[in-house]
Amino acid sequence: MTATSTVMAASARLVSRLALVTGGGSGIGRAVCRRLAAEGASVVVADVNQEAANETLHGLSRDRRGQGHMAAGVDVASRHSVRSLVTGIQCRYFQPPSVCVSAAGITQDAFLVRMEEEHFDKVIQVNLKGSFLVVQAVAEALVICGAPKGSIITVGSIVGKVGNIGQANYASSKAGVQGLTRAAAKELSRFGIRCNCVLPGFISTPMTEKVPEKVIGKMTSLVPVGRMGEPAEVADVCAFLASDDSAYITGASVEVTGGLFIG
Ligand code: NAD
Repeated sequence: MTATSTVMAASARLVSRLALVTGGGSGIGRAVCRRLAAEGASVVVADVNQEAANETLHGLSRDRRGQGHMAAGVDVASRHSVRSLVTGIQCRYFQPPSVCVSAAGITQDAFLVRMEEEHFDKVIQVNLKGSFLVVQAVAEALVICGAPKGSIITVGSIVGKVGNIGQANYASSKAGVQGLTRAAAKELSRFGIRCNCVLPGFISTPMTEKVPEKVIGKMTSLVPVGRMGEPAEVADVCAFLASDDSAYITGASVEVTGGLFIG
């Protein structure tokens, strides 16, 4: 196969797949929506910020299956909201999403000794419980309809593995997301559903724009590749995990960090 035909094959990997992306209104989630749509999937862009989700929607390439993309508002921390989203998708497309990327997430940083209980709870609610609610609702819908296969991808963080100053809440939530994903992989394999977690390092998005320049400089100097990552580089890995190219991979955590914290 030539390099060109490899690219062409890769770009058609998700034709006729329906994908749900939470946090699709910004950063990594938006890049994932673009990449999945470019690979032929119909994409549901879901975000608590409906306007941002609409913006992502308008930038997506036309889907080849003709079912179209859609944008939806969702608060992943609310069971009711997540359930309404999945029901709404099934009403529109007559099937549940067979690809799901759970990318919605927040930070509320503070040193451990100064961290407000409500900020701890909020980050856990959105990042961990939100991932649980999304994974649960999508998995349940896939199992009930007898779908032949599914690929669920959660977005954790390298911080969940190694910790980070000022992020006790965030690190806890992301470590939880990894555990959730592994448990889900074990339970759902028999239904043909794979579950994997991506662990981004430092990626240029609105989330990291909040980090002081000095800290970014210090962190970047620790990255062997020598720069921050781009959202599209995380999306590349999500597209691989969504596709059948990763058919024998489940329960894995894939670091997308430019080599940060090797070993
Ligand atoms: P971002 O702030 O650009 O995007 C996050 C999106 O999630 C936003 O559109 C936001 O509106 C949405 N969101 C927040 N709360 C929500 C809720 N309750 N319900 C639905 N949507 C909600 O951030 P990003 O950097 O693109 O982060 C995406 C994911 O990647 C997050 O889970 C984040 O923790 C993870 N991550 C990011 C980095 C990084 O360096 N940027 C590193 C590791 C992991």
